[in-house]
Amino acid sequence: MALKVVQSMAEKIRMTPMSVQQRSPVRQPVVAQFEKCSAVIRDNLDVGEKKKFLRSQLKQRNGEALSCCKQMERSRMRFVGEAAFQALDTGNSSKQRHLDTFCHSSREARGQSLIQRTIMRAGTELVATEGVAAEVDYGISPRFANVKSSQILDMLALANELDKADPSGVPIIRWCASESGFDTPRPIVEEGMKALQDGFTRYTDSAGILELRQAICHKLQVENGLTYALDEILVSNGAKQSLMQAVTTVCLPGDEVIIPTPYWAGYPEMVHMAEAKTVTVETSIDNNFMLTANALSAVLTDKSRLLIINTPANPTGTVYTRKALEAIAAVVVKHPRLLVLSDEIFEHIIYSPATHTSIASIPGMWERTLTVNGFSKVFAMTGWRLGYLAAPRKFLKPMAKIQSQSTSGACSIAQKAGVAALGLGHGGGKEVAAMVKAYEERKDFLVQRLQALEGVKVFPPEGTFDVFPDFSAYFGTHVAGFGTINDAETLCRFFMKTAKVAMVPGDCFGNGNCIRISFGSSMEKIKEGMERIESVMPLLKPSTLPRTK
Ligand code: PMP
Repeated sequence: MALKVVQSMAEKIRMTPMSVQQRSPVRQPVVAQFEKCSAVIRDNLDVGEKKKFLRSQLKQRNGEALSCCKQMERSRMRFVGEAAFQALDTGNSSKQRHLDTFCHSSREARGQSLIQRTIMRAGTELVATEGVAAEVDYGISPRFANVKSSQILDMLALANELDKADPSGVPIIRWCASESGFDTPRPIVEEGMKALQDGFTRYTDSAGILELRQAICHKLQVENGLTYALDEILVSNGAKQSLMQAVTTVCLPGDEVIIPTPYWAGYPEMVHMAEAKTVTVETSIDNNFMLTANALSAVLTDKSRLLIINTPANPTGTVYTRKALEAIAAVVVKHPRLLVLSDEIFEHIIYSPATHTSIASIPGMWERTLTVNGFSKVFAMTGWRLGYLAAPRKFLKPMAKIQSQSTSGACSIAQKAGVAALGLGHGGGKEVAAMVKAYEERKDFLVQRLQALEGVKVFPPEGTFDVFPDFSAYFGTHVAGFGTINDAETLCRFFMKTAKVAMVPGDCFGNGNCIRISFGSSMEKIKEGMERIESVMPLLKPSTLPRTK
């Protein structure tokens, strides 16, 4: 009976009028795989044959089978197959049961492919019936298989390796992490310590403690002109979690997410994890790396779901003007499915005359904007892991549910500290103002010295503690004893090895001509690092410019 179900489901797959399947050249091989797999676990196959098949499938899985699985990921086929296998497993093929299983599978079975599961099941069956130890299945969900590791961490790892191997003992200066060199301001730390001493160490409301959500509502009202109710605020473990929850909640598989380039490296990976599609839009250094309304219009389709705006922006230091945001908003409101995810984590690290605008404050945008902010950058609190999202209730509710089932909410101690941070006053009060003044001095110093380097193009950051100079004039240079510098990555390795300064190649931010320098550390380190870079520049020869020095 069970076999009949499988066979009839295979037939259904063949008949399913899914446009994806019809276009997909993989359809036939997938159906064939499906039938082969179903044959393996049917009752009349002997154990020897099962083992043989299982082994061949396990061997094949990283190749042909896996690529089939990836291609059928978004199709209904898998769910049909799942239903068939569940019916097979339970031996119950009654119609109602089968339908229930089918519906359940359609909703839930998204992580693993049919063939992976089939193989696992065949393995489990072998173990159960014959006592044979199954081979370990190292397969991971195709949803996460293509997520890239952080190039920033790769650079830091290389710096650690080189430092260890270097007998001189002179450490590499690390300009990799976009992080403040300042300690968290004292009043914030004290509130955190008090929370600990008071025993404020239990689970909190998973959306965030009331006090903090009240403080966030107040801040958004007075600093950003945004009105949110308490249940329209979700406090998370860092802005990263807020961003990830937003992307995965609102995007359907296949939806398009528009990301202006250069971008913060985390966005595309979040989009991949949501099984959505990234649509990058180049911006120009001549337009301060700002997305224009025309460039946005040109990429919008009916699959466009989310536009990510980051202001002030990492890695470029761009601050979107109100006028630029208004032009973007005028395009966005014409697309009913399009939402904006506004990442404002660097809000107060901004250099006059630039001013910050929240896109949600532009008429017509509140309803379609998810605003993310956090404490990591402005309050020098990266390790406390505290961020938040503000959005209309309809969006926020499902995100709050996901959070309650995943992390149960942010750290109780960090949340109390967050209340103190917002209590420092408008824009973070004098503590934040003093830090921003120091970043500005470093920024001015760095920009001036970088601009003095022949062939290097620099956009002076208007906010953040990152600068993103274009070094592409040096690509193609051959350096004796090092090799050819082909791209930003080799250039960063060159600077790390010869100048002992670690920076991040622009490729991971979507622009391979630039490198990112994070100047959050200290003026002393900035000066020393710049001197080191200048000392090795004579080894380089700009390939596209006549050498004058
Ligand atoms: N957005 C941007 C633009 C960032 O640079 C970062 C951190 N590098 C984040 C979000 C994540 O911040 P958090 O530490 O709050 O997770």
